[in-house]
Amino acid sequence: MSHNDNHLETKLIHGPQRGEVQTGAVNVPIYFSSTFHQNSFDEFGPFDYSRSGNPTREALEEKIAELEGGTRGLAFASGMAAISSALLLLSAGDHVLVTKDVYGGTFRFVSEVLKRYNIDHTFVDMTDLNETKRAIKPNTKVIYVETPSNPCMNITNIPELIKIAKANNCLTFIDNTFMTPLYQNPIDLGADIVLHSATKFLSGHSDVIAGLAVTKDKELGDKLAFIQNSFGSILGAQDSYHLLQGIKTLGARLNQSSNSAMQIADYLNEHSFVKDVYYPGLSAHPGYDIHKNQSAGAGAVLSFNLPNKSAAKAFVDNVRIPVFAVSLGAVESILSYPATMSHAAMPAAEREKRGITDGLLRFSVGLENVNDLIADFEQALFIAEKQARVGV
Ligand SMILES: *Cc1c(COP(=O)(O)O)cnc(C)c1O
Repeated sequence: MSHNDNHLETKLIHGPQRGEVQTGAVNVPIYFSSTFHQNSFDEFGPFDYSRSGNPTREALEEKIAELEGGTRGLAFASGMAAISSALLLLSAGDHVLVTKDVYGGTFRFVSEVLKRYNIDHTFVDMTDLNETKRAIKPNTKVIYVETPSNPCMNITNIPELIKIAKANNCLTFIDNTFMTPLYQNPIDLGADIVLHSATKFLSGHSDVIAGLAVTKDKELGDKLAFIQNSFGSILGAQDSYHLLQGIKTLGARLNQSSNSAMQIADYLNEHSFVKDVYYPGLSAHPGYDIHKNQSAGAGAVLSFNLPNKSAAKAFVDNVRIPVFAVSLGAVESILSYPATMSHAAMPAAEREKRGITDGLLRFSVGLENVNDLIADFEQALFIAEKQARVGV
């Protein structure tokens, strides 16, 4: 059996070559070196300066390229650095279509930064493919997709969207942060660039800020590498090492967290005080069938709506296990309040349009015992519901 026949859980741990070539060390060394001595006057080695390339970062870049099934992987200082650098492939006069309820930082970059360089955009509900088709302009060059979207877990049909993109000579970029290559492989479905906030599930321990990009073909990979080197927002060697270590345990972490997320979603769905539960693993989710077709799992993030802001506050005040914080995809469960956290960069009117109401909470399921988490939710919801009844 060749290496490529292995399951992703195996590939997460073993690369094309075993360990580090020179010594056999099973972990990639951290090359703390900004520059590299050249042995010959007229023939330079593979590395010259660490902004352009570093062996530890390169090991990570090769790893993510292999996992996503692309030709070139690139590691950036943050998810936003990866996303922004990919969008810098656009030129003045171009137009980009973007998922309506995209990550708040991506919304900010597209609407506040790209606009100043005369790169136009339209936010569109990509669950509606006809609306997406209608929004394409003669100068549309990129369709930028997040699925499941954040925080309402809307599902875009990736293969259908890619058909539309190809018919209109557009590239497709997909933010695969929520699914990771373990559950969703957009390049196999025809996407041109896959982007990650590796800060989340890929790293998994709330210790590193990092971004990754993978291109389907070499030519686009070279163009993005040129931007990476020009713009200079690269991932450092130590963070590259931490991320490589995090990736090894992704299979165990994401599978356990996703199983727990399913149980928590079922629990919340049955609770009378909870208005809506957004989780693509629930058969009542409008994108359930599409998601199941294009992804191997529903993931470990869900959102749910309580009746109003004071109910959300009462829940947050009384829940004991999760941390109350931005971010997601970690060993510890993370509860967040999108209206003032992940989507604070979005004006209130824009938020409401996207279903990011004042009662909405997002929950990223960690590795705690799921029964403990459900018991914790039970007691916090009990208090929140009681307070709502007496009108505190
Ligand atoms: C966190 C996140 C980002 C931004 O990544 P950073 O590493 O924080 O820069 C982009 N997209 C999604 C879906 C995210 O969750």
